[in-house]
Amino acid sequence: MPELPEVETVARSLEPQLVGRAIVRLAKLDWPRMLTPPAPEFAALVVGRRIEAIGRRAKWLLLSLDSAWTMAIHLRMSGHLLVTEPAAAAAPHVHFALDLDDGRCLMFDDQRKFGRVHLLDPIGLAALDAAHGPEPLMDTFTPAILTEQLRDRRAPIKALLLDQRLVAGIGNIYANEALWLARIHPLTPGGALTADRIACLHQAIRTVLMEAIANQGSSLRNYRDGYGRRGTQQEHFNVYDRAGEPCPRCQMPIERIVVAQRSTYFCPQCQTMG
Ligand SMILES: [Zn+2]
Repeated sequence: MPELPEVETVARSLEPQLVGRAIVRLAKLDWPRMLTPPAPEFAALVVGRRIEAIGRRAKWLLLSLDSAWTMAIHLRMSGHLLVTEPAAAAAPHVHFALDLDDGRCLMFDDQRKFGRVHLLDPIGLAALDAAHGPEPLMDTFTPAILTEQLRDRRAPIKALLLDQRLVAGIGNIYANEALWLARIHPLTPGGALTADRIACLHQAIRTVLMEAIANQGSSLRNYRDGYGRRGTQQEHFNVYDRAGEPCPRCQMPIERIVVAQRSTYFCPQCQTMG
């Protein structure tokens, strides 16, 4: 599933292609449940509107229209967005497409069909914002905030990092990588981390996410940016999906365990409970 670096990369790649463009037609919808509100109302609210800005909140892409509405798109398991020739919308996994005023088409290709497109008014947008914790790359995310979020939490830190209410945008890949960088064992209870280790984790989260953005995200399955290009961060994983391979820091074989139903990779020697 795309995480913060992948969604950020998609937003940045769509921006020069979409900002200033007007939506002229709902050209395709063959999986109606991906849209909220339903198609007739959705089309009435977006057709004729111009896309003014593209942003991101957690793992949501936000397309601000020149009205009070924002199109919020979640790629989920396999979704990706492309701006291309209208004929491409006939592809079998393109479930949603909008014709644009430059003769091209914004299309949502989603093999697994878990992706969602929600049209939000300002109240809906505020609710989406309130449902998520701080953005880890913004100044509002500080070691003090992270300390507050982890206070008295008995759950393993690995599971807590996946909770979008605690920190926004982190998924399984970057939780594993951040804990390795911070030398923290994934089963350490969140509330047991000392101030020094929380400061280290805070920095590790930022480092891992910024490196992944610099490499256009990780393309493990079908993640692509808004031009259809793959990311390369998967070539730089230290632990994720590397069970049995040597730890890049101490050469001990990486281990795989399951935490909160998710594969978890760590070095049993240099990641400790503290
Ligand atoms: Zn190690």
